[in-house]
Amino acid sequence: MVQSSVLGFPRIGANRELKKTTEAYWQGKVGVEQLLKVGKDIRANNWKLQQQAGVDVIASNDFSYYDQVLDLSMLFNVIPERYAKYNLAPIDTFFAMGRGLQRKATETEAAVDVTALEMVKWFDSNYHYVRPTFSHSTQFKLNGQKPVDEYLEAKALGVQTRPVLLGPISYLTLGKADKDSLDLEPLSLLQKLIPLYAEILKKLAEAGATSVQLDEPVLVLDLDEKVQAAFKTAYESLASQSGLPAITLASYFGTVVPNLSAIKGLPVAGFHFDFVRNPEQLDDVISILNDNQTLSAGVVDGRNIWKNDFAKSSAIVQKAIKKLGKDRVIVATSSTLLHTPVDLENEKKLNPEIKDWFSFATQKVKEVVIIAKNVSGEDVSAELKANAKSISTRASSNITNNPAVQKRVAAIDEKMSKRSSPFQERLAEQQKAFNLPLFPTTTIGSFPQTKDIRVNRNKFVKGTITPEEYEKFINAEIETVIRFQEEIGLDVLVHGEPERNDMVQYFGEQIDGYTFTTNGWVQSYGSRYVRPPIIVGDLSRPKPMSVKESVYAQSITTKPCKGMLTGPVTCLRWSFPRDDVDQKTQSLQLALALRDEVNDLDAAGIKIIQVDEPALREGLPLRAGEARTAYLQWAAESFRIATSGVPNGTQIHSHFCYSDLDPNHIKALDADVVSIEYSKKDDPNYIAEFLNYPNHIGLGLFDIHSPRVPSTEEFNTKISKILESYPAEKFWVNPDCGLKTRGWEETKLSLTHMVESAKHFREKY
Ligand code: GLN
Ligand code: ZN
Repeated sequence: MVQSSVLGFPRIGANRELKKTTEAYWQGKVGVEQLLKVGKDIRANNWKLQQQAGVDVIASNDFSYYDQVLDLSMLFNVIPERYAKYNLAPIDTFFAMGRGLQRKATETEAAVDVTALEMVKWFDSNYHYVRPTFSHSTQFKLNGQKPVDEYLEAKALGVQTRPVLLGPISYLTLGKADKDSLDLEPLSLLQKLIPLYAEILKKLAEAGATSVQLDEPVLVLDLDEKVQAAFKTAYESLASQSGLPAITLASYFGTVVPNLSAIKGLPVAGFHFDFVRNPEQLDDVISILNDNQTLSAGVVDGRNIWKNDFAKSSAIVQKAIKKLGKDRVIVATSSTLLHTPVDLENEKKLNPEIKDWFSFATQKVKEVVIIAKNVSGEDVSAELKANAKSISTRASSNITNNPAVQKRVAAIDEKMSKRSSPFQERLAEQQKAFNLPLFPTTTIGSFPQTKDIRVNRNKFVKGTITPEEYEKFINAEIETVIRFQEEIGLDVLVHGEPERNDMVQYFGEQIDGYTFTTNGWVQSYGSRYVRPPIIVGDLSRPKPMSVKESVYAQSITTKPCKGMLTGPVTCLRWSFPRDDVDQKTQSLQLALALRDEVNDLDAAGIKIIQVDEPALREGLPLRAGEARTAYLQWAAESFRIATSGVPNGTQIHSHFCYSDLDPNHIKALDADVVSIEYSKKDDPNYIAEFLNYPNHIGLGLFDIHSPRVPSTEEFNTKISKILESYPAEKFWVNPDCGLKTRGWEETKLSLTHMVESAKHFREKY
């Protein structure tokens, strides 16, 4: 029998139980016992669900109250002194590292004030991990035994599991040196870390675990020789210890072929690779296996929501079986299922035709089992037949295919992605039209999304207020925002985006080819979950999406008012994309839809239009090379298609955040003005990278994630510092990002100070 394996299951609970309890715990509304109990129940549910589905290899230690990488830092006592010094309960130290902690002194406890560790995007996903942060004073030792406890918990329920831990090379290379130890090379800590891995693995073996899964996802990145060599050191050292469980070394989200020599000959029991992303690596990875090693074939997608194509997956597995035999091949999910929603059965409102095309984590578990049965020779003909029918219905459905859109994409020509004149000529016309002062001030689009706004939006969605009443409410909100901006003297106004629930969902709901879930939550970080829209078919815009609000805002002010849109790449990246057409095609379809919107805004008199692309950086392919070059080309082309239909005098803005942006990646967008997250950059070299950027830039001057209000002097100091190298003529003044998560009080003060500061510099220049 060919075995089936699931690399990890979502830990948020089918109804977001973990979020609710964790946040209640943070607010002091429930005790730690309640939090631990909810965690335990979720784990039990997940294991039983997989056991009942017939999965052979079920993961444990895939659960976390915040982040699995942070779990490991706790386990190895990688706790910077600024957290350790408070002697909090372990779970509170853990949360303090994950999200920071600010607490006033009480009679029994001292005050605590510590910011969170750095949070970083997990490879090319929208999950974020807490970065291991090492210092010369880090005292490596085992701190508790979470993997063992959870293994035993499953065992007590009658479920034999394979504990999963992030492997030593990935753990170190995804980490960084702390501020006090900048000369420390994380990989140099390997010798200290290996004994701890050995110790915890030994404990797992003693508890009864026969095998473990060590994840080494860094194998899909470009690795230098030192990192490559470290694999041998680490895994040979573990193999030399007696009494450890068998190790399966797992990688996912890409191809390992460029790093094959690093893992060839490693003394592990088996490997797991991702054949959803890179089926073509099959022959190469098989070639490095020795006669006893097993191959776990990831054929069920852990990153998307589409029903598996059993015929296609079975063919990949069969090919492996032909070379290795049934005993040495395991059918698996491509990665943990953490990045998929929990259960499709909770979706009560989906169009049944579309619902039949989807598979969430609970369904994927069953898929793995069916494929394993199929390749073992068991009779699953009924399942195969139903599956083939779903796949072919989807392929030929007119929800999937819109010939008019396909024709339009095929007809894209170069002219469409080029403004009619170069930047300097456009700038001259725009200057004439807007007559903006030096250091023009603006914001990124959204203003505080108050409770009142959410309540009214809900009423409108539920139909308890009429569309006319809702429009009146929105217009009043817009007017408040416009008057405030006029009052404090901002130069380029925005309407505040009160009508938008989310920057992608709002447009997705108005674009044909998108669908939405009611409960399709996926963990983004800690207790923050997102519900990505799903691209099901060819995308088009039946009618204007944002013109009404923008035109209303412009009609009540004489200052220029910026129109706001979410760009094609960001719409794509923050959705579950189609798997039947490439990302470029989907991006171009979105670009055409947005082009219509940009042109409509322009025709309606909106002469400054911002198209946000905060997800541009995260879409960058993980390795340098052809795919990355191609991505940068089509991403930029998509943006230009969306924005190049307007005359020279219309000013195109764009905005980027959530990432270390490389100015070279945005040059090709040819936006007239870009705004960039900058306030938290303490790297003095970062600004130098932007010196050669030809168009205008607003470096974000304050952090919108925090209620903290910077003073006018603080803005002055910051601007002076930037002006030491950055030219005044290209200098826009704006915050880091939209203000939707902020309150009005701090928003008013921060923006007032920002504008005062801009005026101060205008007098000097
Ligand atoms: N225009 C959006 C806003 O201001 C941009 C949000 C973002 O970049 N994440 O909220
Ligand atoms: Zn932003």
